[in-house]
Amino acid sequence: MATFDLTGRVALVTGASAGLGRHFAQVLAGAGAAVALAARRRDRLDEAVREITVRGGRAAAVLCDVTAAESVRSAVDDAEAALGPLDILVNNAGIAISRPLLEHSEADWDAVVDTNLKGAWLMSREVVERWVKAGRPGRIINIASLLALRPIRHVPSYCAAKGGLVQLTHAMAMELARRGITVNAIAPGYFETDMNRGFLRSEVGQALISRIPLGRSGAASDLDGALLLLAADAGAYITGAVIPVDGGHAVASV
Ligand code: NDP
Repeated sequence: MATFDLTGRVALVTGASAGLGRHFAQVLAGAGAAVALAARRRDRLDEAVREITVRGGRAAAVLCDVTAAESVRSAVDDAEAALGPLDILVNNAGIAISRPLLEHSEADWDAVVDTNLKGAWLMSREVVERWVKAGRPGRIINIASLLALRPIRHVPSYCAAKGGLVQLTHAMAMELARRGITVNAIAPGYFETDMNRGFLRSEVGQALISRIPLGRSGAASDLDGALLLLAADAGAYITGAVIPVDGGHAVASV
C-alpha cells in the first residue's frame, strides 16, 4: 500500500514562521521529512525550528522574502546547503489586506498579489529549474483559499491572488506532469491565525462561522490529511487538484 511516510525527503515551506505554515513544517517533519522553514522573521523561524529539533526532527531556518527573486534564490540555496536537494515545496506565504474595493490602493494590491501569487510563482520557478536540471521528480503544494472559489467583500486583491494561484496550479500541473512533478493546491476555509483572529472573533466573523456546514472553523490539524496526501507517495497520481478543506463551506448555499 502507498504510504504517507516522508523519511528521506526534504521539504521547504514558505511562511513557516507563524500560523498554518509553522504547523505544516511540524507535520512534514513528523512524517519524517527534513524541513526548511522560510520567512522574513528570523526569531520566529528559529523558535519554530527548535520545536521540530527538540522532537528529534531535522529542520533549518532560511530567511526569505517570497516577493523578491534574489531572496528566493538565496533561500533555496541555503535550504539545500543545510538539508540537501528539495523534494517538496509548500507555497504557503500569504497576506491579506481587508479594505473595500474603492479604498484599496495600488500598494495594497501589489503587496497582496506579489506575496500570494507572484511569490508562489517565483519560488516554484526557482525550485523546478533545479529539479529539471537534475532530472528529479517533485511535489508542489500551493495554499490557496476558499476565497479563490467563493469570494467575499473587502478583500478583492486577496480573492484575485488566490484565484490566480488556483489557475497557476492547473497551468504548472499540465506543464510539469511529464517531468514527474505534481502540482496541487489546498483551499482552506477559516482557520484562526494572526491573519484573521480579529475578524473571526467579531460578531460578523462568528455569524460566518455559524454558517459553515460542519458548524465550526478549522483547526490547523484538519489540514494534515490533505497536506500529507499531496506530499507523500499516497498522492503520486494526483496533479492539478484543488482540495477544499473548509467544513463544507464552498458548497454551502448561504
Ligand atoms: P499568518 O499571518 O499566520 O502567517 C503568514 C506567514 O506568511 C508568516 O509566516 C509570514 O512570515 C509569511 N509571509 C508573509 N509575507 C511574506 C513574504 N513576503 N515572504 C515570506 N514570507 C512571508 O497567516 P496564515 O497562517 O493564516 O496563512 C498561511 C497561508 O494560508 C496564507 O497563504 C493564507 O492566505 C492561507 N489561508 C489561510 C486561511 C486562514 O483561515 N488562516 C484560510 C485560507 C488560506 P514573516 O512575516 O516572518 O515573513
